Amino acid sequence: MQTIDKFNFAGQKAFVRVDFNVPLDEKFNITDDTRIRAAIPTLKKILSDGGSVIIGSHLGRPKGVDGKYSLQHILPRISELLGVKVEFANDCLGETAVEKAAVLKAGEVLVLENLRFYAAEEGKPRGLADDASDEEKAAAKKAEKANQKEMAKQLASYATVYVNDAFGTAHRAHASTAIIADHFDAGNKLFGYLMQNEIDAVEKVLKDTARPFTAIMGGSKVSSKIDIIENLLTKVDNLIIAGGMTYTFTKALGGKIGNSICEDDKLDLALSLIQKAKDNNVNLVLAVDAKAADSFSNDANTQIVPVDEIPDEWEGLDIGPKTEKLFAEVIEASKTILWNGPTGVFEFDNFAGGSSAVGAAIVRATEKGAFSLVGGGDSVACVNKFGIADKMSYVSTGGGALLEFIEGKELPGIKAIRGY
Ligand code: AMP
Repeated sequence: MQTIDKFNFAGQKAFVRVDFNVPLDEKFNITDDTRIRAAIPTLKKILSDGGSVIIGSHLGRPKGVDGKYSLQHILPRISELLGVKVEFANDCLGETAVEKAAVLKAGEVLVLENLRFYAAEEGKPRGLADDASDEEKAAAKKAEKANQKEMAKQLASYATVYVNDAFGTAHRAHASTAIIADHFDAGNKLFGYLMQNEIDAVEKVLKDTARPFTAIMGGSKVSSKIDIIENLLTKVDNLIIAGGMTYTFTKALGGKIGNSICEDDKLDLALSLIQKAKDNNVNLVLAVDAKAADSFSNDANTQIVPVDEIPDEWEGLDIGPKTEKLFAEVIEASKTILWNGPTGVFEFDNFAGGSSAVGAAIVRATEKGAFSLVGGGDSVACVNKFGIADKMSYVSTGGGALLEFIEGKELPGIKAIRGY
């Protein structure tokens, strides 16, 4: 497989699919440019080799052409970070894009307008009437899939090489993230640095695992994490369950959880996961105490109670000190650590202590040589909040893509390039 390090972009036109889906405020100022910065090494490598770059991205979830989601808002930041002027095509398809791509010279950058202004990017019909018949729905779907193929073909025609650096959309089989790759031979499609780093980090954790391997699964619901937990139960030595899903396990085991968040229809599932952990010799580590609150608020009254004796009208909003110590001991003895999801309602400072303690234990383990991967929405917000992101071995930029990768699923954006 071709790799970005070895590829010489001199004289090449690269179509680079990035994930510049950055948050904007009401005046269209970028409030967090992490995703742009993450793709800069790839873009700079192409330019410094003597290649030119055509940038394709989505921004937000437009239902059609909508100035609110124009990539024009982020051009100045891209230009500033790259240190070069960037051209803009106000349509990713159509004549302007074709012409601007055609005249692009070495060292130049062209940004295409939001790919999702076209339904064909996602290959899903838009604006179907609510009362559309099944036949109409099927016909619309078929038509949009055909449009998707055409769109991929046109985007591919702009370039001589395809680079995918959009890990955040790697789990989507979209025109620009996967289908486009069919138009390039194996030597002319490759991952960008970000994508490669993400893949390497996950594969180091799941395939090239230094043991003991500990996964910390937090967050609010078991239901959203079942597939990951099931896959991890075949891989980890220790599985720490934290966050809101704790109470589904506690209740399933017969404990009193007061008003704590709980999925009553997942009690049997919790018991089966406990059994599966036993069958696979996985040390399942559950909380022993909770920081309970008398309301869902930062200013609530609190008490530390055994996790299975939460009084009526109280709810567990974080782990207690005994659990912090228990989790830290397991984490610090680990050589591979995966952290997904907070141990409590970390958005409230008074219930961020458990997540902070877990973060600190991961920092200590990493300093002792463990490989730590943090990923999936809120855990990244957590490490940023505690100022420890740079002390983790790797902080993923992927939300859904990372979770599906850990679940063991094949990601279309990855498969399109390396074949699996
Ligand atoms: P997820 O997106 O599934 O990773 O869930 C993250 C969310 O879970 C965060 O917004 C937390 O506030 C929330 N959470 C964590 N622990 C609890 C808890 N004990 N009760 C309610 N929500 C929680």
